[in-house]
Amino acid sequence: MAETGYHVTLNASLLGRNTLRVAAQAERLIEVFDPTCLPQLLAQSGQAHGPIRVLGGGSNLLLSADVPGTVLKLCNEDVHWPDPNQEHAIVRAGAGLNWHALVMASLERGWQGLENLALIPGTVGAAPIQNIGAYGLEVGERIVAVEVYDRDTHQFRTLPTAACAFAYRDSLFKREPDRFVVVAVQFALHRHAALRTHYQGIADELRTTGVITPTARDVAEAVIRLRQRKLPDPALLPNAGSYFKNPMVDADTLADLKSREPDLVYWPSANGGAKLSAGWLIERASLKGARDGDAGIAPGHALVLVNFGQASGADLRRFAARVQATVKDRFGVHLEPEPVCWP
Ligand SMILES: Cc1cc2nc3c(=O)[nH]c(=O)nc-3n(C[C@H](O)[C@H](O)[C@H](O)COP(=O)(O)OP(=O)(O)OC[C@H]3O[C@@H](n4cnc5c(N)ncnc54)[C@H](O)[C@@H]3O)c2cc1C
Repeated sequence: MAETGYHVTLNASLLGRNTLRVAAQAERLIEVFDPTCLPQLLAQSGQAHGPIRVLGGGSNLLLSADVPGTVLKLCNEDVHWPDPNQEHAIVRAGAGLNWHALVMASLERGWQGLENLALIPGTVGAAPIQNIGAYGLEVGERIVAVEVYDRDTHQFRTLPTAACAFAYRDSLFKREPDRFVVVAVQFALHRHAALRTHYQGIADELRTTGVITPTARDVAEAVIRLRQRKLPDPALLPNAGSYFKNPMVDADTLADLKSREPDLVYWPSANGGAKLSAGWLIERASLKGARDGDAGIAPGHALVLVNFGQASGADLRRFAARVQATVKDRFGVHLEPEPVCWP
């Protein structure tokens, strides 16, 4: 079924649309090329076709069964590039654009600021949802506004950063999942901003490759090499990146854990507590590389849940629950999944 600005497919396969490669179907998939269609589309879909969900690249998603109702896929990929003669500027990108493509295109045009987030899978529209972060930068630090269609007020709105409630792998959009469709994102980028090279491995990677005065492009390339070495490629070993968030604990829990596990890996927080390394907890619980059928943990990365072949969403969910239970039993710490689970 084709209409101006959007395209509808009934009983659409989502197998190639989620990086865990789970076989599932959407009752109704609507690819939206022109977001101005959204008010009409959402009004029709909501009345007649059950729940409405928004899909990006499916790289932070666990499909535990077929998805009833409507799945919207934003496909607008337009980018507004500012005048190159400015020192600071706002770059506006459509929600459907591939995230890594935006990072590399901005560097090619001399705009820096997103380089630490190179090679994160997914779309521009999903980046603010969990406030993607890597190598010492969260995207919320570069966002000036998120353009949304608000399903509660039936209006297009431009939300400034302060209204987005960005936090560690969290935002207003993640907390109110049925409310906002992100249509475009505005980023504040610079010609000559200071680079962030202090975080885990970037400085070492630059040094070992002989880069003394790095450019933003050098930082992106270092991040790409580090990520390619550390994380399994979803095209070869289907996964959704880090499956669990690093858990936050208070000062008492931290003290107790340190007395029991002297080599505990953690990052102190301001209140005396800490953010623990979820990967370390899983590895210490002897779950790195563990599997049950085709669902398991990557042999090389304790934080990555993988589909070794034909695992169903239910298989993966069951295995993730086993990891949670084992870590809870051993350390008393709850691991919260990072990906969204549908339906
Ligand atoms: C190998 C690998 C490495 C990863 N590394 C990182 C990392 O370093 N840091 C990090 O933060 N994440 C990482 N991730 C997770 C993932 O890449 C990000 O969360 C990404 O932003 C998800 O984008 P997506 O388009 O695939 O979203 P999807 O998985 O399709 O959707 C995720 C959520 O966003 C919502 N959503 C998507 N688009 C929109 C929209 N336009 N409007 C409203 N809601 C929307 C969906 O409804 C869903 O709730 C990694 C994943 C993989 C597979």
